[in-house]
Amino acid sequence: MHLINADLHCHSTVSDGTMEPEALAQRAQANGVELWALTDHDEVKGQHRAMAAAAALGMDYLTGCEISVTFADVTVHIVGLGFDADDEALRQGLAATRGGRAERAREMSDGLAQVGIKGAYEGALKYVGNPDLISRTHFARFLVETGVCTDTHEVFRRFLTEGKPGFIPHRWARLGDAVRWITQAGGMAVIAHPARYKFTPTEEYALFSEFVAHGGRGVEVITGAHSAAEQVKYADMAQEFQLCASRGSDFHSPDESHTDLGTLPDLPGRLTPVWEALAPRVRRAAASA
Ligand code: AMP
Ligand code: MN
Ligand code: MN
Ligand code: MN
Repeated sequence: MHLINADLHCHSTVSDGTMEPEALAQRAQANGVELWALTDHDEVKGQHRAMAAAAALGMDYLTGCEISVTFADVTVHIVGLGFDADDEALRQGLAATRGGRAERAREMSDGLAQVGIKGAYEGALKYVGNPDLISRTHFARFLVETGVCTDTHEVFRRFLTEGKPGFIPHRWARLGDAVRWITQAGGMAVIAHPARYKFTPTEEYALFSEFVAHGGRGVEVITGAHSAAEQVKYADMAQEFQLCASRGSDFHSPDESHTDLGTLPDLPGRLTPVWEALAPRVRRAAASA
């Protein structure tokens, strides 16, 4: 099997990345990516730009998004790949998922004001590329700018995670809805960075079982968020649940991301890559042989 350099998870200014879709496409191609997907949070507005940029650079492309889901009171991310980006039900589902973000951001700002951090809402807005998609990442950038923290990871640890002053609990999409929006638009639903969730083994088993029951078919095995041991663990779970395996850096910004586009280890050879199952959905670059 020829293992291609696929990177099927990253973010642009359409959500919480710092680079435009076209610039990301160039960076991916420069780093040797052969098959790319832009997977902005809860939004497909960048898909046609990403697709056109990939085609111009001779890079194959799969449509993508990353849907915020609440499962067992925990936020879980479901990546969608290879769907029709103009599908109306998918677009409506994503719009509903984005819906509460502005109000949540106001409440986050109020929480931060109570510990003496003023003007966080306006400050975060300066970093927002898409007014529908204000996220914790934009607050993190503002708190680094003001010198309250030295990097965004410190901001999350001290201010933006559960129990901290800027954290506002939020209910996102339901797992079954997210999987259905993606699948009914012709795509594949993939569990994003599974090691990031603080689940007990029982809860994790429930996530995988329910995900499969809803029609989910993939899991990220190789991601910037996984250690070597976690790569093995989720390769085993992919086999146990008969899921295809995905690979994606989750790149957001040259200044913030530890893993650059296209620089991850290969998928273990024993797994079926998502791009094999999605072959008919790959937009082949006209320039490729
Ligand atoms: P939101 O959708 O507004 O809750 O923001 C979630 C985003 O915050 C994720 O997609 C990551 O980009 C970012 N994020 C979450 N946790 C951390 C962390 N510990 N360090 C840096 N970024 C994080
Ligand atoms: Mn993000
Ligand atoms: Mn994520
Ligand atoms: Mn992501």
